[in-house]
Amino acid sequence: MPSQNRLRKYARLAVSVGANVQPGQMLVIQGATDTREFIRLCVEEAYEVGAKSVMVRWSDDPISHTTYLKSDVETLEEVPAWIVAQFDYFMEKGAALLSVASPTPGLLADVDPVKLQRANIATRKALTNWQAHMMGNKTQWSIVAVPTVAWAKKVFPALNDEEAVDALWNAILTAVRVREDNDPVQEWRDHNARLSAHNAALNDHNFKSLHFKNSLGTDLVVELVKNHIWAGGDEKNTQGVHFNPNMPTEETFTMPLKFGVNGKVVATKPLNYQGRLIDGFWLEFKDGKVVAYDAAKEKEALSNLLSVDEGSSYLGEVALISHDSPISNANILFLNTLFDENASCHLALGRAYPMNLKGGLSMSQEELAAAGSNHSMEHQDFMFGSADMSIVGITQDGKEVVVFKDGNFAF
Ligand code: ZN
Ligand code: ZN
Repeated sequence: MPSQNRLRKYARLAVSVGANVQPGQMLVIQGATDTREFIRLCVEEAYEVGAKSVMVRWSDDPISHTTYLKSDVETLEEVPAWIVAQFDYFMEKGAALLSVASPTPGLLADVDPVKLQRANIATRKALTNWQAHMMGNKTQWSIVAVPTVAWAKKVFPALNDEEAVDALWNAILTAVRVREDNDPVQEWRDHNARLSAHNAALNDHNFKSLHFKNSLGTDLVVELVKNHIWAGGDEKNTQGVHFNPNMPTEETFTMPLKFGVNGKVVATKPLNYQGRLIDGFWLEFKDGKVVAYDAAKEKEALSNLLSVDEGSSYLGEVALISHDSPISNANILFLNTLFDENASCHLALGRAYPMNLKGGLSMSQEELAAAGSNHSMEHQDFMFGSADMSIVGITQDGKEVVVFKDGNFAF
């Protein structure tokens, strides 16, 4: 385990920079029982910075596994009204949300994927309002991660359980800039400022499209929506309160035009979806839609992802990250999107973020669709950046600008 000093700094960072809970505000923390020590620190730190109340929604991995395995699909599809009411209450109170992710790879590997798929869809449908509330930045929300033994052993298979967890803790804390002797809150202020400078440069160019190319076979043109906004680092909720939705974060991202993606993209890291590791895959797009694909491993999980709904076979996000980034340089495959997506350029299948479109946060679903924004219950990132990635931006008047050269930002 890391020192108590470092853990407490991480908890403080999560509540005061990540969720940025405001004096007098309610904070909801979601996390698994395995992370209770860290969650207890988060609760303490939240009250320390003035939270009015802190409510924890616990989950438990072995119980989730048993439930998915033993319950029939009709029961799993039944979302109790009191769960929906609980989220309605959080919205009504204007609560901020902190999710403590502690993924256990392979946890649900022996559960029928169709069953999982149907349960997943039912939950998302029941919580549509809550999801729209979060994605529309109506409040502050943040995701931070804590190791599990199963995850640590996947990342560091040569180490014993304890060593592996220690090594993963160290990698996570390094990635989120929490060291023994620094002030991570100040470092995050500086980091957010750097990211917003990148966003500003891309917004000034106002590209019509981006052309990605590398030696693995990626040759993809991604048209961007008109009036797109490049964002990344900290965000503002609709009341103007800053927060960091993901910790770590290195990306600057925007909204692709739903029907404007053409060509082939080859993934460069495995994708963890529904407890399965999809690996060695590529997708081919025509007018925005995936028309062909293959995977060396877990192709069925990839098929599930593409068939969740109409929008899950279209893109909702394009994100740029220099190959020379702290997470990439650590050269650890975390086998987790929150970290690996920050090592590499990525795309997301599924729902777009309304914040990536001028005025998008106050548009109706129909208005968003008319602007070329993709809608889906899914939002799944996958990585395709590489050391030899080149990106050329095409301006509205047809000029070409080098955006990435040899995997890194060229400006
Ligand atoms: Zn992203
Ligand atoms: Zn994403």
